[in-house]
Amino acid sequence: VDMSSLAVSPPERLRTPLMVPQRHMFGPGPSNVPPRILRAGANPVIGHMHPEILEIMADIQGGIQYLFQTRNPVTLVLSGTGHTAMECAIFNAVEAGDSVLVAVNGVWGERAADIAERIGARVNTIVGSLGGFFTNAEIEEALIKHRPVLFFLAHGESSTGVLHPLDGIGQLCHKYDCLFLVDSVASIGGAPVYMDEQGIDILYTASQKVLNVPPGIAPISFSERACRKIFNRRTKPVSFFLDLSLLSNYWGCDGKATRMYHHTGPVSAFYSLRESLAILVEEGLESSWKRHTNVTEYFHTGLEHMGLKLFVEDKALRLPTVTTIVAPDGYDWKEITAYVMKRHNLEISGGLGPSAGMVLRVGLMGCNSSITNADLVLAALRDALTHCHKSKV
Ligand code: PMP
Repeated sequence: VDMSSLAVSPPERLRTPLMVPQRHMFGPGPSNVPPRILRAGANPVIGHMHPEILEIMADIQGGIQYLFQTRNPVTLVLSGTGHTAMECAIFNAVEAGDSVLVAVNGVWGERAADIAERIGARVNTIVGSLGGFFTNAEIEEALIKHRPVLFFLAHGESSTGVLHPLDGIGQLCHKYDCLFLVDSVASIGGAPVYMDEQGIDILYTASQKVLNVPPGIAPISFSERACRKIFNRRTKPVSFFLDLSLLSNYWGCDGKATRMYHHTGPVSAFYSLRESLAILVEEGLESSWKRHTNVTEYFHTGLEHMGLKLFVEDKALRLPTVTTIVAPDGYDWKEITAYVMKRHNLEISGGLGPSAGMVLRVGLMGCNSSITNADLVLAALRDALTHCHKSKV
């Protein structure tokens, strides 16, 4: 007879050991985490405000400033994914009633608009074609029309595979007294971004793409102009967790001698991120950009030789991290992704949001960006096209 007083008994499934397969993570994220970064994360957990951790946080800040090409003192890491960074940027920079302009040419603009609406912003969008971009003239026209306090643009639109040009937009935004917010989750480290030079006021990314760090943390940086608006708000940001005044104290960005407890930072993730940034410093940012470009060009040529079509027609607009392939005619894209997973132990994905059903997406990011891996994907796709069901119509 079970004499336990517990109404819920221990689940039998937890009596079997944890099993996680090795897998080629060639979708739009998360990417593979190399052993060196995994090992870094296995270091002892110590207090999140112990002096050793504060040193590690300072190392990370330096690494992010290098990655972002910024001298902003308010540069930190959020304890959350890319969405946390989207919310942190918008929750802090925008007050209810403020006008916000969002460039929508894929799912990330849609989500940024959704987030801004939730806090009572007046949201206007400029809507572009999937796989296309916005000219600076189009952006300026919208800035004049809507006079926003914030303009959102995804640098790497991972749902469509577009790398959006950045030059001149920051300067335009500033001309109309608007902050320039850029999502570089899918692009940073794989394509050039010069935060200060390009007049970007808020820039964020996430750990699980080019950085090859497990998902769950998100680097973000704020310009002096952004801080001026944020630290002179009439109202408190809706989120305590994402309040930049509290976060910048926790990260030692506010120049105050004492740091207050805000929340318990994910120290193991910080170890991994530090290791990732150390790897980036060893390779050099420009070499990383170049490697991503070279591998992507090689990969794209291989795809075209196979008769596949790239979704982004303009070569200059193709993301060097996430490739979108037009879902091949006559095939069910789901069968293709399932086939390469089953036969090649390799993840690629379908579209997302507005590109769902239209594309296959392949991410070769960070350590995954190599000719060997491009060849693996090409071979897997060639095999899938031979073996998956093709309709005769
Ligand atoms: N922005 C872009 C461009 C992305 O690709 C992603 C992740 N796919 C996100 C934001 C959201 O990041 P997360 O899934 O880490 O919340």
